[in-house]
Amino acid sequence: MKGSQYVVIGLGRFGSSLAKELVQLGYEVLGIDQDEEAVEEMSDVLTHAVVADATDEEVLRSLGIRNFDCAVVAIGDDIQASILAAILLKDIGVKTVVAKALSELHGKVLEKIGVDRVIFPERDMGIRVAHQLVSPNLLDYIELSKDYTIAELSVPKKLSGCTLKQLDPRAKYGCSVVAINKKHGVIIAPTATDTVEERDVMVVIGTNDQIEEFESQVIRR
Ligand code: ATP
Repeated sequence: MKGSQYVVIGLGRFGSSLAKELVQLGYEVLGIDQDEEAVEEMSDVLTHAVVADATDEEVLRSLGIRNFDCAVVAIGDDIQASILAAILLKDIGVKTVVAKALSELHGKVLEKIGVDRVIFPERDMGIRVAHQLVSPNLLDYIELSKDYTIAELSVPKKLSGCTLKQLDPRAKYGCSVVAINKKHGVIIAPTATDTVEERDVMVVIGTNDQIEEFESQVIRR
Protein backbone atom coordinates (compact mmCIF):
# COMPACT_ATOMS: atom_id res chain seq x y z
CA MET A 1 0.00 0.00 0.00
CA LYS A 2 1.68 3.22 -1.14
CA GLY A 3 1.73 5.94 1.51
CA SER A 4 1.04 3.41 4.25
CA GLN A 5 2.61 3.72 7.66
CA TYR A 6 3.58 0.66 9.64
CA VAL A 7 4.21 0.01 13.29
CA VAL A 8 6.27 -3.02 14.22
CA ILE A 9 6.04 -4.18 17.84
CA GLY A 10 8.91 -6.36 19.02
CA LEU A 11 12.27 -5.81 17.38
CA GLY A 12 13.69 -9.32 17.72
CA ARG A 13 15.14 -11.14 14.70
CA PHE A 14 11.80 -11.37 12.88
CA GLY A 15 10.46 -7.91 13.76
CA SER A 16 13.69 -6.07 13.00
CA SER A 17 14.17 -7.84 9.68
CA LEU A 18 10.57 -7.10 8.66
CA ALA A 19 10.83 -3.47 9.77
CA LYS A 20 14.12 -2.96 7.90
CA GLU A 21 12.67 -4.40 4.71
CA LEU A 22 9.61 -2.12 4.91
CA VAL A 23 11.97 0.87 5.18
CA GLN A 24 13.96 -0.44 2.19
CA LEU A 25 10.69 -0.64 0.27
CA GLY A 26 10.13 3.04 0.98
CA TYR A 27 7.62 2.98 3.84
CA GLU A 28 7.58 4.82 7.14
CA VAL A 29 8.04 2.48 10.07
CA LEU A 30 7.70 3.03 13.79
CA GLY A 31 9.45 0.29 15.78
CA ILE A 32 8.52 -0.38 19.39
CA ASP A 33 10.30 -2.59 21.87
CA GLN A 34 10.51 -2.61 25.64
CA ASP A 35 14.18 -3.47 25.42
CA GLU A 36 16.37 -0.40 25.16
CA GLU A 37 19.18 -2.20 23.36
CA ALA A 38 16.86 -3.55 20.67
CA VAL A 39 15.53 -0.03 20.04
CA GLU A 40 19.00 1.50 20.06
CA GLU A 41 20.14 -0.97 17.37
CA MET A 42 17.29 -0.02 15.07
CA SER A 43 17.15 3.71 15.77
CA ASP A 44 19.30 4.66 12.76
CA VAL A 45 17.44 2.34 10.41
CA LEU A 46 13.78 3.02 11.14
CA THR A 47 11.79 6.23 10.73
CA HIS A 48 11.16 6.19 14.50
CA ALA A 49 12.03 3.71 17.20
CA VAL A 50 10.79 3.97 20.78
CA VAL A 51 11.20 2.08 24.01
CA ALA A 52 7.72 1.20 25.25
CA ASP A 53 5.60 -1.60 26.64
CA ALA A 54 3.09 -2.50 23.93
CA THR A 55 0.67 -3.94 26.50
CA ASP A 56 0.12 -0.49 27.98
CA GLU A 57 -2.92 1.08 26.33
CA GLU A 58 -2.07 4.61 27.42
CA VAL A 59 1.37 4.33 25.87
CA LEU A 60 -0.05 3.07 22.56
CA ARG A 61 -2.60 5.88 22.48
CA SER A 62 0.00 8.53 23.30
CA LEU A 63 2.13 7.27 20.40
CA GLY A 64 -0.80 7.88 18.05
CA ILE A 65 -0.89 4.24 17.01
CA ARG A 66 -4.47 4.47 15.79
CA ASN A 67 -3.31 6.58 12.86
CA PHE A 68 -1.19 3.76 11.49
CA ASP A 69 -2.57 1.66 8.64
CA CYS A 70 -0.98 -1.57 9.73
CA ALA A 71 0.55 -2.94 12.89
CA VAL A 72 2.68 -6.07 13.13
CA VAL A 73 2.98 -7.80 16.50
CA ALA A 74 6.31 -9.58 16.34
CA ILE A 75 6.51 -10.62 19.98
CA GLY A 76 7.09 -14.36 20.23
CA ASP A 77 7.99 -15.93 23.54
CA ASP A 78 5.75 -13.80 25.73
CA ILE A 79 2.42 -15.10 24.44
CA GLN A 80 0.45 -13.07 26.93
CA ALA A 81 2.11 -9.82 25.78
CA SER A 82 1.55 -10.75 22.14
CA ILE A 83 -2.19 -11.34 22.71
CA LEU A 84 -2.65 -8.24 24.85
CA ALA A 85 -0.86 -6.03 22.33
CA ALA A 86 -2.97 -7.46 19.49
CA ILE A 87 -6.26 -6.86 21.36
CA LEU A 88 -5.24 -3.30 22.19
CA LEU A 89 -4.29 -2.55 18.59
CA LYS A 90 -7.66 -3.83 17.32
CA ASP A 91 -9.46 -1.88 20.07
CA ILE A 92 -7.62 1.33 19.32
CA GLY A 93 -8.76 0.98 15.71
CA VAL A 94 -5.68 0.05 13.68
CA LYS A 95 -7.10 -1.10 10.34
CA THR A 96 -4.88 -4.12 9.78
CA VAL A 97 -3.24 -6.07 12.56
CA VAL A 98 -0.80 -8.83 11.68
CA ALA A 99 0.66 -11.05 14.39
CA LYS A 100 3.32 -13.70 14.57
CA ALA A 101 2.37 -16.95 16.32
CA LEU A 102 4.81 -19.44 17.77
CA SER A 103 2.34 -22.34 18.04
CA GLU A 104 -0.99 -23.45 16.56
CA LEU A 105 -2.76 -22.58 19.82
CA HIS A 106 -1.20 -19.13 19.95
CA GLY A 107 -2.36 -18.66 16.34
CA LYS A 108 -5.91 -19.77 17.14
CA VAL A 109 -6.18 -17.27 19.98
CA LEU A 110 -4.89 -14.46 17.76
CA GLU A 111 -7.47 -15.35 15.11
CA LYS A 112 -10.26 -15.45 17.71
CA ILE A 113 -9.49 -11.94 18.95
CA GLY A 114 -9.78 -10.60 15.39
CA VAL A 115 -6.18 -10.38 14.17
CA ASP A 116 -6.41 -9.92 10.40
CA ARG A 117 -3.48 -12.11 9.50
CA VAL A 118 -1.63 -14.63 11.62
CA ILE A 119 1.80 -15.70 10.44
CA PHE A 120 3.86 -18.69 11.52
CA PRO A 121 7.39 -17.83 10.32
CA GLU A 122 9.21 -20.85 11.75
CA ARG A 123 6.55 -23.38 10.72
CA ASP A 124 6.16 -21.93 7.23
CA MET A 125 9.89 -21.64 6.61
CA GLY A 126 10.31 -25.27 7.69
CA ILE A 127 7.67 -26.35 5.17
CA ARG A 128 9.25 -24.20 2.45
CA VAL A 129 12.74 -25.56 3.00
CA ALA A 130 11.38 -29.16 2.97
CA HIS A 131 9.80 -28.53 -0.45
CA GLN A 132 13.02 -27.04 -1.76
CA LEU A 133 15.06 -29.99 -0.48
CA VAL A 134 12.71 -32.45 -2.19
CA SER A 135 12.68 -30.38 -5.41
CA PRO A 136 16.09 -28.70 -5.81
CA ASN A 137 15.02 -26.66 -8.85
CA LEU A 138 12.08 -25.19 -6.97
CA LEU A 139 12.92 -21.55 -6.25
CA ASP A 140 9.64 -20.50 -4.71
CA TYR A 141 5.97 -21.37 -4.66
CA ILE A 142 2.55 -20.05 -3.69
CA GLU A 143 -0.11 -22.45 -2.48
CA LEU A 144 -3.36 -21.48 -4.20
CA SER A 145 -5.30 -24.10 -2.21
CA LYS A 146 -4.57 -27.38 -0.47
CA ASP A 147 -3.97 -29.03 -3.85
CA TYR A 148 -2.99 -26.30 -6.32
CA THR A 149 0.29 -24.44 -6.43
CA ILE A 150 2.12 -21.90 -8.58
CA ALA A 151 5.82 -22.78 -8.60
CA GLU A 152 8.98 -21.15 -9.91
CA LEU A 153 11.34 -23.74 -11.40
CA SER A 154 14.85 -22.88 -12.55
CA VAL A 155 15.91 -24.23 -15.94
CA PRO A 156 19.07 -26.37 -15.84
CA LYS A 157 21.76 -26.24 -18.53
CA LYS A 158 20.74 -29.53 -20.13
CA LEU A 159 17.30 -28.11 -21.07
CA SER A 160 18.76 -24.97 -22.67
CA GLY A 161 17.18 -24.40 -26.08
CA CYS A 162 14.20 -26.74 -25.53
CA THR A 163 10.80 -25.55 -26.68
CA LEU A 164 7.78 -25.90 -24.43
CA LYS A 165 6.46 -28.39 -26.98
CA GLN A 166 9.48 -30.59 -26.31
CA LEU A 167 9.06 -30.34 -22.55
CA ASP A 168 5.29 -30.76 -22.94
CA PRO A 169 4.36 -30.42 -19.25
CA ARG A 170 0.62 -30.15 -19.92
CA ALA A 171 0.24 -33.33 -21.94
CA LYS A 172 2.71 -35.38 -19.90
CA TYR A 173 2.10 -34.14 -16.35
CA GLY A 174 -1.05 -31.95 -16.46
CA CYS A 175 0.65 -28.74 -15.28
CA SER A 176 1.03 -25.58 -17.39
CA VAL A 177 3.82 -23.06 -17.86
CA VAL A 178 2.13 -19.67 -17.43
CA ALA A 179 5.25 -17.51 -17.77
CA ILE A 180 8.96 -17.73 -18.48
CA ASN A 181 11.13 -15.23 -16.65
CA LYS A 182 14.19 -14.53 -18.82
CA LYS A 183 17.18 -12.31 -18.20
CA HIS A 184 15.78 -9.67 -20.55
CA GLY A 185 12.09 -9.86 -19.68
CA VAL A 186 9.12 -12.06 -18.94
CA ILE A 187 7.13 -14.02 -21.51
CA ILE A 188 3.56 -14.21 -20.25
CA ALA A 189 1.39 -17.10 -21.51
CA PRO A 190 4.20 -18.61 -23.61
CA THR A 191 3.36 -20.71 -26.66
CA ALA A 192 4.60 -24.17 -27.67
CA THR A 193 7.41 -22.70 -29.80
CA ASP A 194 8.88 -20.52 -27.02
CA THR A 195 12.21 -21.82 -25.79
CA VAL A 196 13.80 -21.92 -22.36
CA GLU A 197 17.46 -21.22 -21.61
CA GLU A 198 19.69 -22.06 -18.70
CA ARG A 199 18.81 -19.98 -15.62
CA ASP A 200 15.41 -18.93 -17.00
CA VAL A 201 12.65 -19.38 -14.46
CA MET A 202 9.51 -21.22 -15.50
CA VAL A 203 6.35 -20.28 -13.63
CA VAL A 204 4.22 -23.41 -13.51
CA ILE A 205 0.66 -23.91 -12.29
CA GLY A 206 -0.81 -27.28 -11.35
CA THR A 207 -1.46 -29.68 -8.50
CA ASN A 208 1.38 -30.35 -6.10
CA ASP A 209 1.78 -33.86 -7.53
CA GLN A 210 1.85 -32.67 -11.15
CA ILE A 211 4.50 -30.06 -10.42
CA GLU A 212 6.57 -32.49 -8.35
CA GLU A 213 6.47 -35.05 -11.19
CA PHE A 214 7.42 -32.45 -13.81
CA GLU A 215 10.28 -31.23 -11.62
CA SER A 216 11.64 -34.70 -10.89
CA GLN A 217 11.08 -36.29 -14.32
CA VAL A 218 11.98 -33.43 -16.66
CA ILE A 219 13.82 -30.64 -14.87
CA ARG A 220 16.00 -32.66 -12.50
CA ARG A 221 16.74 -35.77 -14.55
P1 ATP B 1 12.66 -13.48 17.21
O1 ATP B 1 12.57 -14.93 16.89
O2 ATP B 1 11.99 -12.60 16.21
O3 ATP B 1 14.03 -13.00 17.57
P2 ATP B 1 11.10 -14.23 19.48
O4 ATP B 1 10.00 -14.95 18.78
O5 ATP B 1 12.12 -15.02 20.24
O6 ATP B 1 11.81 -13.22 18.51
P3 ATP B 1 10.94 -12.47 21.65
O7 ATP B 1 12.44 -12.37 21.62
O8 ATP B 1 10.29 -13.03 22.83
O9 ATP B 1 10.39 -13.22 20.41
O10 ATP B 1 10.31 -11.03 21.39
C1 ATP B 1 10.73 -10.21 20.34
C2 ATP B 1 10.92 -8.81 20.87
O11 ATP B 1 9.69 -8.34 21.44
C3 ATP B 1 11.99 -8.70 21.95
O12 ATP B 1 12.98 -7.76 21.52
C4 ATP B 1 11.23 -8.21 23.17
O13 ATP B 1 11.97 -7.26 23.93
C5 ATP B 1 10.00 -7.55 22.56
N1 ATP B 1 8.85 -7.53 23.47
C6 ATP B 1 8.38 -8.54 24.23
N2 ATP B 1 7.32 -8.14 24.96
C7 ATP B 1 7.13 -6.82 24.68
C8 ATP B 1 6.20 -5.82 25.09
N3 ATP B 1 5.23 -6.08 25.98
N4 ATP B 1 6.29 -4.58 24.55
C9 ATP B 1 7.27 -4.28 23.66
N5 ATP B 1 8.16 -5.18 23.23
C10 ATP B 1 8.11 -6.42 23.72
